[in-house]
Amino acid sequence: MAITQSVVDMVVDRTAGRRVASVQLQVGKLAGVVADAMRFCFELATSGTVLEGARLEIEETPGRAACRACRDEFDVADLVLLCPCGSADVRIVAGRELLVTSVQMVEEPCA
Ligand SMILES: [Zn+2]
Repeated sequence: MAITQSVVDMVVDRTAGRRVASVQLQVGKLAGVVADAMRFCFELATSGTVLEGARLEIEETPGRAACRACRDEFDVADLVLLCPCGSADVRIVAGRELLVTSVQMVEEPCA
């Protein structure tokens, strides 16, 4: 909820009061965020703001980690960070990001 709230606050800050039609997020599989929970929180957090009724589009990006033992890179599907070689001495290289990649405004007719 706190993460969603900060995303909403950030977008509200940057849109200068214009109504928002949709927000696109890129969320890494290892960011610790559940997309469905985020959609639910988004509805609550946007109520009464310029984002009310805006669509939330979440693109999940896969996790990647690099092994210090065998120097290989491999996909990480969950928070079990184990290299196929058996080593747990790994470093996450992708999948922790949470980025607002695009914000679309409602087209308002010129006055
Ligand atoms: Zn390894």
